[in-house]
Amino acid sequence: MEYKKVHINPVSPEPPRASVLVIYTGGTLGMVFETKGRQLVPFDFEQVIEKVPEIRRLDFEITFLTLTEPIDSSNMKPAIWVEIAQIIYNQYAEFDSFVILHGTDTMAYTASALSYLLENLNKPVILTGAQLPIGVARSDARENFITALEIAAATNEQGHPIISEVCIYFNSVLLRGNRAKKQESSDFNAFHSQNYPHLANAGVRIEYNHPYIAPYQPGSSLRLHTKLDRNVTFLKLFPGICRKVVSSILEIEGLKGVVIETFGAGNAPTDHWFLDELRMAIERGLILYNVSQCDGGRVTQGQYQTSKYLKQIGVVSGSDITAEAAITKMMYVFGTELDSQHYRDLLSTPLRGEMSI
Ligand code: ASP
Repeated sequence: MEYKKVHINPVSPEPPRASVLVIYTGGTLGMVFETKGRQLVPFDFEQVIEKVPEIRRLDFEITFLTLTEPIDSSNMKPAIWVEIAQIIYNQYAEFDSFVILHGTDTMAYTASALSYLLENLNKPVILTGAQLPIGVARSDARENFITALEIAAATNEQGHPIISEVCIYFNSVLLRGNRAKKQESSDFNAFHSQNYPHLANAGVRIEYNHPYIAPYQPGSSLRLHTKLDRNVTFLKLFPGICRKVVSSILEIEGLKGVVIETFGAGNAPTDHWFLDELRMAIERGLILYNVSQCDGGRVTQGQYQTSKYLKQIGVVSGSDITAEAAITKMMYVFGTELDSQHYRDLLSTPLRGEMSI
């Protein structure tokens, strides 16, 4: 894939406060209505810069890198996550921070995947986007973009970045990326993080919630991971799910892991056939990861009889992880090519603050 680079020099006579690399992947933020149709399609990012002349007033240096073909994030792929992680890794020494402009639909998946791929991150990686295209008068794109840049450039008294993890900034809130979920497709408050506090709230001032922000690790060096294994899937439970649906998912050839979206605190039917299917799948070597359909609260296997059996047959508890963080974690964990016990240990452990223990 080829990239187009545009460099924006700040107009301020002072030396730039920070240097930020903006990676534009597409999404509504940079879309326009097709001339004939009613569909939104991505357009060239150079025109986006014209639409936000305010960024030239920020006292830091911004470099834009744009995917040759900006995408609607519904077309996002693990190969692009690896590519973005690779760009950040290659440019890590060159820039103080990174902002990724991304569609909202799969932003929580991308943020989660990047959090696993970039180990020992010591610089901010902030994803943002918009619910309305930047050319529309009422667009939320300007505020989201400019505040994301401000957060990416923010440092403490020691000169270290305040944020040194992968985050999503949207509609005045900064969220840990692998804790965020898209909750809204119409209103501006597109993301929430039910199980983890906001890392910052942006009003007149940007107020950081320091106790919850991953601490800056002096001396740690970034480690890039590039393998994601796509042999994973979801199995969402519902009352009345039939055996052939469950077995056809669990018997997919080459499948290594399944995120089972359970009820409430990690509960599932106790029908013999259901538990037999799960047990047989585990015996065949499949890893099953229990994640709740509820946005808030956590999986506690054994709290109810309807989850006790899952624990007994060896289903791994996902605690309070989101479905987005769980499926991408499985891709990452299987990408390590370790053994089954390591997979289970990694899935039960918070790797990048994605779950509570
Ligand atoms: N379909 C768009 C996307 O995810 C929605 C958005 O950007 O808000 O790319």
